[in-house]
Amino acid sequence: MRAMVLDQPGRPLRLEQRVDPQPGAGEVRVRVEACAVCRTDLHIVDGELPVPRLPRVPGHEVIGIVDALGTDMPPGIALGERVGVPWLGHTCGACPYCTSGRENLCDAPLFTGHGRDGGFATHLIAEAAYCLPLDLPGDPVHLAPLMCAGLIGWRSLRLAGDDARDLGLYGFGAAAHLIAQVAVHQGRRVYAFTRPGDSAAQAFARSLGAVWAGASDQAAPVALDAAILFAPVGALVPLALRATRKGGRVVCGGIHMSDIPQFPYRLLWEERHVLSVANLTRGDAHDFLRVAATVPLEVRTTAYPLERANEALADLRLGRIEGAAVLIPA
Ligand SMILES: [Zn+2]
Ligand SMILES: [Zn+2]
Repeated sequence: MRAMVLDQPGRPLRLEQRVDPQPGAGEVRVRVEACAVCRTDLHIVDGELPVPRLPRVPGHEVIGIVDALGTDMPPGIALGERVGVPWLGHTCGACPYCTSGRENLCDAPLFTGHGRDGGFATHLIAEAAYCLPLDLPGDPVHLAPLMCAGLIGWRSLRLAGDDARDLGLYGFGAAAHLIAQVAVHQGRRVYAFTRPGDSAAQAFARSLGAVWAGASDQAAPVALDAAILFAPVGALVPLALRATRKGGRVVCGGIHMSDIPQFPYRLLWEERHVLSVANLTRGDAHDFLRVAATVPLEVRTTAYPLERANEALADLRLGRIEGAAVLIPA
């Protein structure tokens, strides 16, 4: 197998030939068809999010085919089946979070491409119970971004509240372009906030159903019921609070964010909430995949051969990608 390996944060990934791994108890080997590139991968490669051990293969938006089974397989996983491998790769099942339906907050989790090797590779080993059987139509390149941009976007949308009819999305990248379509399908009005001057992203947002698109430092045309921040920019938190009505919510969808600047208490007052989204549960994944099967999602991707992962990361860092970057093993 081949993998793009992170030896040290801040250094480019290195192509490595490895012996094909064998799945252990409860594990499968997945032959990767496509793996999308998430901003979290960028945080890992840039050293903003430490990984437990190096070297590490990033990548947690995997679509692939089960090509070897370990022992003790859970029901429902078969050789030759297409699965998705998301960020949540293992939970302990015993901590207070796992036993209360909040496995996304597990005390001893393993995350794909973080605590175990991920999908910037031709193959990976995954725990079968955390693989998502896929009976969605579509090609693997278009399915891959659903595995994190879609899933985390979905959890963020849920936390924004069912009553959020006027919804602001800050940062119109991979996650926002998917979740905007889901929100519009649900009858919400979407307001897209991009980097000032990014008229291409604003036009992209309007083309996907946003009723308004503008710069993040612009006032929204209405008071928002909720806002979701996908851009990892702490300075957006007070801006989004300012744009949100009494009792509204500001949901931070990323795993890492620059510092939030000091802001006057009156922006938070009147029962506004600021909250973060951490990881996902398998329940979220099943709910979102059900939704994705009914909403005709337009998934915008830019494909790169696996060996050009560094180029994909650089393009994401510079905001040069419309939609999602996806790596494809040759
Ligand atoms: Zn991700
Ligand atoms: Zn746990």
